[in-house]
Amino acid sequence: MKLLMIGAALAVGSLESVAASKLMNFATSFTCTQERVKELCVGCDTIEYPQETIRSGPVEGDFCVIATSAEDEKALNNMGCSSPLYEEVSQPFAEVSNSMNGVVKGKLGQGQLGYTPPAELHAIFEGLAADFPDVAQLIDVTETYKTPATVEGNHLYVLKISDNVAEDEDEPNVLVISNHHAREMITPEIAVTLAQRLVQGFVEGDEYLSNMVSNNQIYVAYTWNPDGLNHVWNADNNWRKNRSFNSNGSRGVDLNRNYPFGWDFTCSGSTTQTSQTYKGTSPGSEAETQTAMAFIKDRNINKYLDFHSSGRDVRYLYAACATMPEPLFSYYQDVAGIISSEMDYVVRDSCCTGGAIANAYFDTGAMSYLSETGTSFQPPAAAMREEVERVLPGAYKFIDFAMPVSGKVVDADTGAPIFADITLPGIHFLYGEEKTTFPSTGSFSLFLPPGDFTVSIVARDTPGTYEPRNFTVAASEDGTTVELALSRA
Ligand SMILES: [Zn+2]
Repeated sequence: MKLLMIGAALAVGSLESVAASKLMNFATSFTCTQERVKELCVGCDTIEYPQETIRSGPVEGDFCVIATSAEDEKALNNMGCSSPLYEEVSQPFAEVSNSMNGVVKGKLGQGQLGYTPPAELHAIFEGLAADFPDVAQLIDVTETYKTPATVEGNHLYVLKISDNVAEDEDEPNVLVISNHHAREMITPEIAVTLAQRLVQGFVEGDEYLSNMVSNNQIYVAYTWNPDGLNHVWNADNNWRKNRSFNSNGSRGVDLNRNYPFGWDFTCSGSTTQTSQTYKGTSPGSEAETQTAMAFIKDRNINKYLDFHSSGRDVRYLYAACATMPEPLFSYYQDVAGIISSEMDYVVRDSCCTGGAIANAYFDTGAMSYLSETGTSFQPPAAAMREEVERVLPGAYKFIDFAMPVSGKVVDADTGAPIFADITLPGIHFLYGEEKTTFPSTGSFSLFLPPGDFTVSIVARDTPGTYEPRNFTVAASEDGTTVELALSRA
């Protein structure tokens, strides 16, 4: 834990040389210049910046890096980075968390001080659904979409929070996922607390929160890596990946490198099976990834927020090896600033491709962000609770953010909804990013900076029935609502 406590956490490359020993990982902290870290950290997940997070760490202006293998340690030494050596012993997080603070059970408004074990996290979601059936519904996503269970037989769940929750209403679909990476233990706590506060806010009539719940269909997942989360609790508190069996006998794929978009770009995950960022045998090879994609595609997710730790930042699309065209790139950056300022966090670009948020954007055009929360994977319980409170205003801002354009594509004569492809001819997308209306309602939203944009609409479900048409829409900060009507050919 020593290194994690000073707030530096970064997996650099592989664990190959120590893979056989699950109980002891090398974790060596280095002080490097910014340039050297950038050279080194292609494919890495987290870079900690000293001015924000490493007060007790390296000298001003330098970065602190942790190497997790002897190989990386050597590489860093060769680059002239200085290296105080630590050894880190993994242990069940249940033991770590006991030493931090007792676990306190709770549903609504009962103070939860310590970390919440996986079964209790699930029980909180079940309790919310049971106690507030009009506003909270537990969905077994694996069962719904008939995707494979995880290798350890677990299903993935979201808690749907909305007024008239049993109905599928014509409202923006907002997804908040935590814990793609198992050891990032603050993130399930953020998710369950967010769910509790939204439900509580609705029930108690808090204007800000109840409007959010009334006007959106919000889906919250406290973990997208249940096998890994169990492993962290019961065996190894430093476990990051899922628990898939690799061909060389090692375990685990990095779920946030397994998504198809950018899976083989130059800043994608590692091909080394023992690496902390191993991207899997093929794009979307993992059950967890497949289940997320099925859900996101079916719900045509409008907004997607993915919680990780650590770094106290909000990250935007794409990573450096992929090109998000202007003016979208700048807009993503600007809005990251709006969300991060609610948390007193900083803005950073994405580290890598093959991750969840870029894939969600690719598949649905969703407003997608990732937040690296806190300054370590497993802060002491009191610090963790403080951080949850620090993060929630950013989550609210994200959920409440007015989409600059939203509306429907309809039949000009009957007003019937049309399932249609939406493209933006004035913006030069490089990878075939997709955007459609929601099939049953014709609804869509566009994440665009303020200004006029040409939108091209082509009906999909009945090709040739409707005349394709271009429209000019005016994106605005407060959100412009449009109805785009197609005439029959
Ligand atoms: Zn992560």
